[in-house]
Amino acid sequence: MQYYMITTSQIVNNRVNFFDDELHHIFKVMRMRKNDELICVDYQLKVKYLCCISDDNEIVIVKEISEDNELKNNLVLAFGLVKSDKLEFVIQKASELGVKKFIPLIMKNSIIKVNDDKVNKKMLRWQKISKEACEQARRNTIMEISQPLTISELLKHQQTINLVAYENAAQGLKIRDYYQANKDCLIVVGPEGGISNEEITILEANGFQQVSLGKRILRCESAAISSLSILVDLME
Ligand code: SAH
Repeated sequence: MQYYMITTSQIVNNRVNFFDDELHHIFKVMRMRKNDELICVDYQLKVKYLCCISDDNEIVIVKEISEDNELKNNLVLAFGLVKSDKLEFVIQKASELGVKKFIPLIMKNSIIKVNDDKVNKKMLRWQKISKEACEQARRNTIMEISQPLTISELLKHQQTINLVAYENAAQGLKIRDYYQANKDCLIVVGPEGGISNEEITILEANGFQQVSLGKRILRCESAAISSLSILVDLME
């Protein structure tokens, strides 16, 4: 069944008011007709509704459904800024995997520099990618995406467990040994150029634990997916 993320204010008198692009998707792309069902997810309240197309082509709430697919604890990914296509890929995969908040991280070896004029436009595009991925993944909410932050700004977003996937970490340092059940977790993954000595020093001085993802050096997007998959498995 098709899932659509909506805000609480889109629900009026038991009907869901969609915007034009979503109406186009429902009626033209999905070709839904009278009595067809869809699921609307109020991502602000994290509540899902079974809805049905009425005689007059309105989307009417039939009942609330108790399906909660969110991780019980916060999972935050801070990912070194990389070229758009890779960043967008990671935003999509992090959304699918259940990440609560995504932080684009401005790092020494990030080839891409953030330009204030373009960042708002980029944020809108990232939010759209994330929203669609969260719908596809049948989540109850959408992944929050922060403005790009520097490492010192990241420190304000620390969780109970703070990890950094570091390409030079000793093999014995495994995520499973540092994750503790029912705890919120932040993991940092570096850009293609890797994490600088200065950055790893700052992170460690602020309580981040280095972890290894194995003997092989992964591309940054593979490292993000690999580390998130391990954490999701431990959290669930
Ligand atoms: N240019 C670097 C590799 C960077 S890989 C080099 O050649 O050494 C990009 C990011 O993915 C790294 O900064 C790290 O966060 C993560 N990563 C890749 N492989 C990893 C591994 N085996 N263990 C832990 N983190 C890894």
